[in-house]
Amino acid sequence: MHDTSTPTPSARPIRAVVLAGGNVGDTAARLQRAAVLLAERGGRVVQASSQLMTEPWGFEAAGRFVNQAFEIETTLAPEALLDVLQSIERDLGRDRDAEQTERNRTGQRYASRLIDLDLICYGDAVIRTERLTVPHPLMAEREFVLRPMCELVPAWRHPLTGRSVREMLETICTKNETKR
Ligand code: AMP
Repeated sequence: MHDTSTPTPSARPIRAVVLAGGNVGDTAARLQRAAVLLAERGGRVVQASSQLMTEPWGFEAAGRFVNQAFEIETTLAPEALLDVLQSIERDLGRDRDAEQTERNRTGQRYASRLIDLDLICYGDAVIRTERLTVPHPLMAEREFVLRPMCELVPAWRHPLTGRSVREMLETICTKNETKR
């Protein structure tokens, strides 16, 4: 007989890193709000990096970006966590249709946005579905991902390359130095 007094064990919590950023309006306030919503819907926020100002990457834009990384502990499955991130983007005013209109107008691949939340890593999982690629495919090329992430989990290793966040950041900094 099934013993109903025994609670169903909850899924094992996973540590995930979410990168948040935006370049329109009061991004600092929006990032604070994103952290509150992330804690309500995604899981416990274990650590938050500082908010870092960065230049737009891959396109020309008027506003500089502010980026912040959050380490969370979650029991949500990866795609359910992505649903949460997208619900937070919507609730904080992200309008994907308006971004598409801007991309069409400028012919650029990226557009300014109020808020963007990306799932950078989900424990050591390697995920490739139609909606989700984890670890985030461009993380090793983006200083604005690695710098805030390095404040939180410098020793985390990319499950495919074996390289730590600190090592990836050093490589990209050297590359960017030689470009200047
Ligand atoms: P973006 O416009 O940068 O917010 O990209 C969002 C799109 O990327 C969505 O359609 C997601 O399904 C997809 N996507 C794939 N991998 C990820 C990831 N690791 N984090 C967030 N979005 C992702």
